[in-house]
Amino acid sequence: MTTASSRIETYQNLIGNKWISSSDGSTFVDEDPSRRGSTLALFPSSTVQDIAKAIDVADAAFKSWKRSALEERQRHATRFLDLLERETEALASIVARENGKTLREARAEVVSALVEGRHHVAQVSRFYGQSLPAGTQGCSGWEQFHPLGVVAIISPWNFPMNVMCRKALPALLTGNTIVFKPATFTPWSGVTMAKLFESAGFPEGVFNCVAGLGSSIGNALVDDPRVKAISFTGSTYVGKKIHERAAKNLTRTQLELGGKNALIIMPDADLKAAVDAAIIAGFACAGQWCTSTSRVLVHRDVYREVCDRLAARCEEMRVGDPMDEKTDMGPVAGTEQFTTISKAIETGLAEGARMLTGGPGKGDLERGYFIRPTVFDNVTPDHTIFREEIFGPVLAVTEFNSLDHALELANNSIYGLSSAIFTRDVDAAHRYIDRIEAGLAHINIHTGFKLPALPFGGWKDSGSGLPENSTTGLEFFIQRKAVYWKANS
Ligand code: NAD
Repeated sequence: MTTASSRIETYQNLIGNKWISSSDGSTFVDEDPSRRGSTLALFPSSTVQDIAKAIDVADAAFKSWKRSALEERQRHATRFLDLLERETEALASIVARENGKTLREARAEVVSALVEGRHHVAQVSRFYGQSLPAGTQGCSGWEQFHPLGVVAIISPWNFPMNVMCRKALPALLTGNTIVFKPATFTPWSGVTMAKLFESAGFPEGVFNCVAGLGSSIGNALVDDPRVKAISFTGSTYVGKKIHERAAKNLTRTQLELGGKNALIIMPDADLKAAVDAAIIAGFACAGQWCTSTSRVLVHRDVYREVCDRLAARCEEMRVGDPMDEKTDMGPVAGTEQFTTISKAIETGLAEGARMLTGGPGKGDLERGYFIRPTVFDNVTPDHTIFREEIFGPVLAVTEFNSLDHALELANNSIYGLSSAIFTRDVDAAHRYIDRIEAGLAHINIHTGFKLPALPFGGWKDSGSGLPENSTTGLEFFIQRKAVYWKANS
């Protein structure tokens, strides 16, 4: 597997198990976020004709793939996962180079894709096992699960391998065919995954990958009536647009969207564990996690101590080359991310929040898109940094005076993806579980933690449709048929 080369490589789309350029031959640049203006490789800037061609072959392939034995699908999926495991280091280095997350984080992403993938392969047999016959007065009945057809997978750049695997494996295991559009910032990870699917032996047309700009090819993918479902992870803004367009064809959607996740620190909390959690979930992947901690809500009795500890921990963090094993935090993913996060920091300052530490990287760090771990305190609900998703290494710290007040602050958001509370008080933990408006609730664990056996999805503007993982991740890709059978006498 190629991970680096002095010559600039041009990659292609995978359509019908053939590698081909975009129909008009145009390409776009994948930039290394550690070096402004650099070119890692070139990728096809695909056209609506390329999308149509990919849907054609996926639609044709569906006719036989839907009849394939479950064991065959599991065999291909297992081969894919074996390749993923074998290539972990090379894959992690691609993610680290084009996304900017550290090698350690990139390795964790590949391992997470692997763990989730093995879970899906194992649980799909049990999932079908739920369609049991049920007899009544000479009539027996059961339900059958059928695949949908061609499904579109549109993924973001922040977990360019894990998120697509979490969607693609359940779709394939349930007998659907795929047109996959990787994110524009991370086409290398996307095309590399496509290569692994091809190498795993999936039949021609079952898995197709078309790179390009969402604004140029997204509508063609979403509007085609042959696309029966869209599994999308990305911003709430784009997710709502997709949902609106998809409704015209009654195309089902699974939308995993933005967040503004709150971590609550009660006065009885283990403060070291709570601060560790805020640092991990606030700054891993440079804060570009949908389940990142973005708001830290701290009881007034421990507020000053927590702020001081957070600032001190941030100042110890090594920001720099993601390929260096000693680096704690790499650059943000690219120029747009750098500009948006820098603007959010400026707005925080202009609106009167206090920056304890952080800000855009200075000196040597100006060579790339580096933002230092940033902590604001004195943040109130009217501040933009309290309300809007920043999707970068910025923590907004707000003081509260009771659990009710903390829950009111935590729920004061259009988003509802993840959340956490640190406390030793069982009653407080129960009240938090009951009242928090979020798809994920953690007690004494950071906001980014998840397991493949439990559903992963957001409430409110953080998501719509069936959550990923668990059985709902498979359920999204099937339609049910109720069968009734009366025996002839
Ligand atoms: P984005 O919405 O800009 O892009 C996501 C994908 O949609 C990309 O592949 C993009 O090319 C494509 N796209 C853009 N316009 C399109 C259109 N009109 N039609 C079809 N596709 C289109 O998001 P992003 O910047 O890649 O990712 C960051 C966002 O994703 C953040 O808001 C983050 O919270 C969210 N996210 C959510 C989860 C989750 O599970 N809830 C996970 C990761 C990221």
